Amino acid sequence: MTNRQISKSANQQISTWIELEDRYTSGVYTKRPLVIVRGEGARVWDAQGRAYIDCVGGHGVANVGHCHPRVVAAIREQAEKLITCPESLYNDRRAELQAELVRIAPPGLERVFLCNSGTEAVEAAIKLARLSTGRPGIVAARNGFHGRTMGALSATWQPQYRQPFEPLLPGFVHVPYNDLAAMEEVLDENVAAVILEVVQGEGGVIVGDGDYLRGVQALCRERGALFIVDEVQTGFGRTGRLFACQHHGLQPDVLCLAKAIAGGIPMGAVLLGPRVGELPSRVHGSTFGGNPLACAAALAVVHVTEEEALPRRTAELGAYFLYRLREVDSPLIREVRGLGLMVGIELKRKAQPYLAALMERGVLALSAGPIVMRFLPPLVINRMELETVAEAVEEVLSSASKQVNK
Ligand SMILES: *Cc1c(COP(=O)(O)O)cnc(C)c1O
Repeated sequence: MTNRQISKSANQQISTWIELEDRYTSGVYTKRPLVIVRGEGARVWDAQGRAYIDCVGGHGVANVGHCHPRVVAAIREQAEKLITCPESLYNDRRAELQAELVRIAPPGLERVFLCNSGTEAVEAAIKLARLSTGRPGIVAARNGFHGRTMGALSATWQPQYRQPFEPLLPGFVHVPYNDLAAMEEVLDENVAAVILEVVQGEGGVIVGDGDYLRGVQALCRERGALFIVDEVQTGFGRTGRLFACQHHGLQPDVLCLAKAIAGGIPMGAVLLGPRVGELPSRVHGSTFGGNPLACAAALAVVHVTEEEALPRRTAELGAYFLYRLREVDSPLIREVRGLGLMVGIELKRKAQPYLAALMERGVLALSAGPIVMRFLPPLVINRMELETVAEAVEEVLSSASKQVNK
């Protein structure tokens, strides 16, 4: 076959995959016309063999990079030994992981509930907060995102995610983020917990203020509510500290983790402090929670994150990337903001066409709301790759602005 014939049949194969997914998928996702078949480090490859710098990073999952050899080896070894084991029995990998999570967590978090996703971590946090305090109320922030199951969705703010599914749970209120006075007003004796992100991710990469977050924590202590921090997106080095709480010396009562925790194997975790108190048995649980396969992957992620000093690396590279993007001179940019390698560019118009243009140039990035371009690269990305991303952004936003000026 000639090269042309090969590429023609490859193209047919690719359209078949796209057609199959389009025919059989639920329809709840919007998709880009790209079939990704392989990943390594900060890069992914499409079915035609074209490489992309991956600033989607599995939506903030691939912190240690795609297919990190240590994670792959841990999964392979564990898969040959034991894949499933419910929490009604003990397991070696689970025991080790629980101890490791407590060791690396902010001080005071001493027990662990394991589950399978971010929304499940938030569900557990909400349930346990109500159980522990005997109060119904949950306070969350505007622009906050906590997941899409009914409890977590009740804490999520975005009306377009909520409205089709109302009525949601009673007892939830939303207050402006970074506004301590607004928090003070709603925090009464009916409130079981406040749930906040340290940097709001889906809501547009909005960086939380340290004084605000510490102030909310103090108010929670004073008024008998639990302080839940949702680090599903900011955890495991993303913001330049192992946990974003550590930028501000926060000591949450409940810490929700997921996304990057197990290198791409589904997993969530809820870490609990002493103010949660003793929990009666059988009040909550999960069939897959704490399964040995996910625990083995997560142990590998913890070790890689520490051995490769990914938080420190992320702080340095993130500062460089932010600086570099702030240099981009484009009338389309309203603001560049972020922490570590969690970076957003707020535009004065819809982000989607510019994300598509980045893709053409070999860079995958995602949105955070309609007008923010978001970058969540694997933390193993190198400076040259980040420079390539910044140059692509520059090209896309300045060539676009030329068109606008015509
Ligand atoms: C992604 C996300 C969730 C939901 O996680 P899923 O695994 O998609 O259920 C919850 N909270 C935050 C902050 C997130 O970024």
